[in-house]
Amino acid sequence: MPERDQSSAAAARIHPIVVAPSGSTASPRQRFAIKTIPFESPVHDVMNGAQRQEIKIHDHGFVALVDAMPRLVPEGQTADSAIVQAARVSYGQGTKKVNEDRGLIRYLLRHRHTTPFEMVEFKFHIAMPIFIARQWIRHRTANVNEYSARYSVVPDTFYRPSAESVRKQSKSNRQGGAELFGPEEHITAEAFLKYLDDAEALYARYEKLLESGVSRELARIGLPVSAYTQWYWKCDLHNTLRFLSLRMDPHAQEEIRIYAEAMYQLLEPIVPLTIEAFRDYEMESVRLTRLEIEALRAQREGGTGELATDNKREQDEWREKRRILGV
Ligand SMILES: Cc1cc2nc3c(=O)[nH]c(=O)nc-3n(C[C@H](O)[C@H](O)[C@H](O)COP(=O)(O)OP(=O)(O)OC[C@H]3O[C@@H](n4cnc5c(N)ncnc54)[C@H](O)[C@@H]3O)c2cc1C
Repeated sequence: MPERDQSSAAAARIHPIVVAPSGSTASPRQRFAIKTIPFESPVHDVMNGAQRQEIKIHDHGFVALVDAMPRLVPEGQTADSAIVQAARVSYGQGTKKVNEDRGLIRYLLRHRHTTPFEMVEFKFHIAMPIFIARQWIRHRTANVNEYSARYSVVPDTFYRPSAESVRKQSKSNRQGGAELFGPEEHITAEAFLKYLDDAEALYARYEKLLESGVSRELARIGLPVSAYTQWYWKCDLHNTLRFLSLRMDPHAQEEIRIYAEAMYQLLEPIVPLTIEAFRDYEMESVRLTRLEIEALRAQREGGTGELATDNKREQDEWREKRRILGV
């Protein structure tokens, strides 16, 4: 028979059942004693007792944080403490104070000692248009469970930008949208929205075909990629930061960038030390190539600071970095 560990009432509240070795009727899976060790000090929930913390995106989308690991941390600490705890396996118990935790986290991030950041995990519930999900799913290190349009009917929800936010094709970036259509060009923006209307109108035919007995798995294939899907997305902090770094970047499509920015806002209070270091060493940092370092050195010797390459894109990137650096 399982027995209760009498050693700590606090532990019993958190892990009520402790299994001890027992007689021949015990399941072979219950033959080990589990030693339950309670927290040494009071703990708090990093999500402040919330079931979910949700940010609405556009008309029909959202990003909701539904769980975190660690969820309970000692009072006065944040989930950053799990990173420090893991790192101390490598570095020993040398540093213990919060300001030392901060220094350690900043060191780890600067030196790309990444595995301690994998000790923290987040689970999100996200609703987004299918064309955004296609970009998102490329981040292979997450665990994903998506709404099944074979099993359930696709909801009648579609992404559409406002007429004022329809973007023109960028001339410098083949993948990007750039400036907006001005008031004098509103006919083109409205033509785009009319095109979306026509695509959304297919939903009525989708429903009719379902009523006529066409399978859900086939009926859905005529719906546009502006239709919404949902998934649970669980990822460790290291790979979430990688996701944020790529998808909060100005080169990322605006419609995914807003989701990444919302995730960043949800995570900031939970792992503030890591987010601070991430800003300092990744988001708002500038990486220099060998050619750029040589151009900088040459500039100090009286040169123009131009890059020794014919590659126009590289030259543009260097111009942008010089603007940031003020050189
Ligand atoms: C602005 C932008 C434009 C893009 N354009 C295109 C495009 O035109 N076409 C296109 O196809 N994609 C495009 N992508 C997607 C891009 O190429 C990546 O697939 C995507 O950003 C995911 O990045 P990742 O591989 O670093 O992420 P993850 O898949 O999360 O990988 C994170 C890290 O884990 C490693 N990893 C992942 N899986 C494994 C594994 N099984 N074994 C070992 N290591 C693994 C990766 O190498 C990486 O270092 C674009 C992305 C961005 C941000």
